[in-house]
Amino acid sequence: MTNKQVYFFGSGTADGKAEMKNLLGGKGANLAEMSRLNLPVPSGFTISTEVCTLYYENGKYPSDLENNVNETLHKVEDVMGAKFGDSDNPLLLSIRSGARISMPGMMDTVLNLGLNDETVQGLIKQTNDPRFSYDCYRRFIAMYGDVALGIKAESDEESGPFEQRLHAKKEARGVTNDTELTADDLKELVAEFKAVIKERTGTPFPEDPNDQLWGAIGAVFNSWENDRARVYRKLNGIPDDWGTAVNVQSMVYGNMGDNCATGVLFSRNAATGEKRMYGEYLVNAQGEDVVAGIRTPESFDNLKENELIGHCYNELVEIAEKLEHHYTDMQDLEFTIQKGKLWMLQTRTGKRTGLAAFKIAYDLAVKEKLITKEEAMLRVDPNQLNQLLRPVFDIKQKQQAIESNRLLTKGLNAGPGAATGRVVFTAADAEIFKSKGNDVILVRHETSPEDIKGMEASIGILTARGGLTSHAALVGRQMGKVCVVGAGELQLNYSLKQFTVKGKTIREGDYISLDGSTGEVIEGTVDTRPSEVVEVIISKTMSPEESEIFQIYDTFMGWADEYRRLKIRTNADQPDQAENALAFGAEGIGLCRTEHMFFEESRIATMREMILAETQEEREAALEKLLPMQKQDFIEIFRTMNGLPVTIRMLDPPLHEFLPHTKEDIQHLADVTSIPYEKIKAQVDALSESNPMLGYRGCRLGISYPEITEMQTRAILEAACEVKKEGIIVEPEIMIPLISHVNELTIQEEVVRAAAKDTFDKYGFEIEYAFGTMIEIPRAALTAAEIAKSAEFFSFGTNDLTQTVFGISRDDAGRFLPLYVNKRILDHDPFESVDQEGVGVMMKMAVDFGRTTRPNLKVGICGEHGGDPATVEFCHRIKQDYVSCSPFRVPIARLAAAQAVLKENQQNS
Ligand code: ADP
Ligand code: MG
Ligand code: MG
Repeated sequence: MTNKQVYFFGSGTADGKAEMKNLLGGKGANLAEMSRLNLPVPSGFTISTEVCTLYYENGKYPSDLENNVNETLHKVEDVMGAKFGDSDNPLLLSIRSGARISMPGMMDTVLNLGLNDETVQGLIKQTNDPRFSYDCYRRFIAMYGDVALGIKAESDEESGPFEQRLHAKKEARGVTNDTELTADDLKELVAEFKAVIKERTGTPFPEDPNDQLWGAIGAVFNSWENDRARVYRKLNGIPDDWGTAVNVQSMVYGNMGDNCATGVLFSRNAATGEKRMYGEYLVNAQGEDVVAGIRTPESFDNLKENELIGHCYNELVEIAEKLEHHYTDMQDLEFTIQKGKLWMLQTRTGKRTGLAAFKIAYDLAVKEKLITKEEAMLRVDPNQLNQLLRPVFDIKQKQQAIESNRLLTKGLNAGPGAATGRVVFTAADAEIFKSKGNDVILVRHETSPEDIKGMEASIGILTARGGLTSHAALVGRQMGKVCVVGAGELQLNYSLKQFTVKGKTIREGDYISLDGSTGEVIEGTVDTRPSEVVEVIISKTMSPEESEIFQIYDTFMGWADEYRRLKIRTNADQPDQAENALAFGAEGIGLCRTEHMFFEESRIATMREMILAETQEEREAALEKLLPMQKQDFIEIFRTMNGLPVTIRMLDPPLHEFLPHTKEDIQHLADVTSIPYEKIKAQVDALSESNPMLGYRGCRLGISYPEITEMQTRAILEAACEVKKEGIIVEPEIMIPLISHVNELTIQEEVVRAAAKDTFDKYGFEIEYAFGTMIEIPRAALTAAEIAKSAEFFSFGTNDLTQTVFGISRDDAGRFLPLYVNKRILDHDPFESVDQEGVGVMMKMAVDFGRTTRPNLKVGICGEHGGDPATVEFCHRIKQDYVSCSPFRVPIARLAAAQAVLKENQQNS
């Protein structure tokens, strides 16, 4: 191998830099960058991700890796003035993983590597501190045993063997804090830990520092393929072949006494986005003590007041500002203070809530002018808009709940929003409760990566321990969950599945409510209230000036509209839905389903009469009754849309969906219509199908019963004429569903055109309308050129198209699709985001074929996929004209459509 494998950093220089994340991983690249910026970074080196990839390809390291590592290690030794493995002045190392994208808690770190019975004496000699030295030693053995040797707890209920021994030692000594154990206690622990390793692995603990080093490097590489790392990658769409880098770094010590500390610092508030630093630290602690949530840390603000290390406060603030300017984004820093000297261990772009993401990008672009609006738009994930549109508690109800003593406790506000749900105590129970249709709140001492799936299944997460940077807080926030952590008053009892607080007992299945914005935990349910954005633009209960969140939302939407090329429409069947969508910026209706209009109490009977009709006359009589009802619906929708296009789909579902199925319901229908029970029953049986999804539905109905298509056409166009008379522009688009052959379409076209002509004759004037079809059957996509001769527009029904391209029934897919995603047969659920390699190819083909015979063919998508950002981007790329999605996803689609343009521009430049 000719490529460089090992990248040195330290003492103001570095082989790597921030731009080299793919090669060095995020952590390594940023350590190099901080070193270049002359920040105090303990010297070390990074083994590149290429080495990891080679290791997995060949099953072994490149032959010259060992030499390269040794050479670079000597450089580090020179900088630090200590020698790895030296019995007099030993250099200790931390071995840290780091992928391109930070994966919190996913990969494992080993600290204090290089200690053995000999070198620990050297450390004692150098520090004059046996207690500290043995503290490092016992930590090292435990981490090494856990990470490199895989020694874990024997069951989920108990803690790991090292933690158990530590706990037992504290009990035996009658102390509660680790820091109260003496050097001798810790020395005993070292021996006990080694015995555990011998017992569990059959081999003694490796005393040779070189064996330790390579064991740990191997463990980091191997951890790329451990279960929790895989789960995380899958949840976050990170490719498996990226690999991880390994960072080998000199240790600095936060556990040398009260003038030492370790902590984390966010350059802005990661929950709200407010421009105010916040962080946490622990005095006399090392490594993951802060993140693990074992001791509750102190707030960063207190550091100022600390007599011994307060001077580091300003230095940290300066560094945080410098890094934020340098990276032009909010930074998440890790630091350690060793005997009053500050060391930087990590910086990365901080994870944040959706709310904070928008606020920070807005502030950086608008107020601070550090980034452009294009950059700001690309900084946010359109799905994060959900958090701006998300409900909060009904203030009155919450007040009442608190006044009536239902406030159970208050924890830290880690993830904003309001959630009411049923309590569970394990991740597995969360999944079970969720699968039964419950809203779930997962309550734990603290969470760990093993809980990820259960956290996904929950709407809220509540922990008793840990701070704002604990696992629950970081991961919960990233998932967009309502999250309250560190509610220390909770007394959890996992085995009884209950917790007690203030003398009250809450059991599994009981309701609680979490306010993730204030940290309040409330007994029972509390109604939620719409977000401020919704208050301003929909219910109009707030003015734009009152809400900063709205102003941010509005600014982003304005920017998005400047850039996007796709039009955004909505799926709406009712005027009120359409109205919401308009408020969210919809530019038309892409799918108005007509069937929903028939389910109303007053209409279903007539609809059923129509279906049960035995002759055409009877059917026409029933349709005659339905016509004015449909017409009224369309009138209201056209009025609401006020000049914007409205695509109306002809009747689509199988008819038996409209019929009663239980004995009582059939009897009831017989009573109100005076059609005999037997007759109805016979018709219900006759219409039942073994495969309704592929059965008698869509245009197949209109072809058998042209009078249905005719009635619906008349209803639409009469409504259009009426509304036009009111002076309102109307732009109806009549859409035929489930076409597979062009002849199906032309035969329906004749019916539509004839009914249209009749209607216009009757009114004495014409309305411009479009005639088109859904593309949701592969044959229609394949023959799109033919179909476009008749259709003036296409609209992709991607739900049906996905079903038919995959040969999967959506209703049954729940049984096996999760397994498919789990086994990575599919990388995502194709009903959530369009399968671009399969279904997408068919879509592109249909667009291209269609435009060969009709160059100005209008193309859209009306499946719920239309609100999925990745799908929106795809629709842009295949040159569709619009996407249509549910009202609350319209803003998401607007932003996603703008991002599609920005990404395209980036690629072209
Ligand atoms: P993660 O990716 O899980 O944050 P890190 O590699 O950052 O893992 O390490 C975990 C913890 O170990 C961090 O809290 C960090 O402060 C500590 N740590 C890492 N390297 C060193 C070091 N060289 N000296 C002291 N502490 C370290
Ligand atoms: Mg870290
Ligand atoms: Mg369909």
